[in-house]
Amino acid sequence: MPGTPAYVPVEDERQIPERIGQLHAQTVVLDVEPLIATWNSGQQSLDEGVARLMTQIGELPEVRVVCFATNSARRPSRMPDAPGKQVLYLASARKPLHTEPFLRLPRPGVVVGDQVATDGLLARRLRYAFVHFRPPLREMPVGPLLFRGGGELLRPLLFR
Ligand SMILES: [Mg+2]
Repeated sequence: MPGTPAYVPVEDERQIPERIGQLHAQTVVLDVEPLIATWNSGQQSLDEGVARLMTQIGELPEVRVVCFATNSARRPSRMPDAPGKQVLYLASARKPLHTEPFLRLPRPGVVVGDQVATDGLLARRLRYAFVHFRPPLREMPVGPLLFRGGGELLRPLLFR
């Protein structure tokens, strides 16, 4: 069907900024675990991860809004400045059910995340592209690993 948003699997996180640029995204929704900081990491790695991703995405001229969104309750202790860009951070984001925070953000948009059942489904509901970050399985704790297995069953239903 025409206009179906893209599904872009990525295994190396260093490719993510380039993929976002290729999609001409104006809004980027970033899942937090494990792209920004791994599941069991502390405050310092979350702060460093947020700053690292903002530096990378800050170089993409078409991006206007960067929204970190995690279903966990953790928050960074400070938000980095990004000249010319709006930066949002949603903790307890209730992905994929809660779409309201995204509805007025500029399009096209992209969700970057590791779980089809939350990040991918949120992308589908918003008609955003989905950059599916697929880190090596050995790096995943058992909870997210099982959840990922379930999400894989869902993927062909959501994305061609
Ligand atoms: Mg995740």
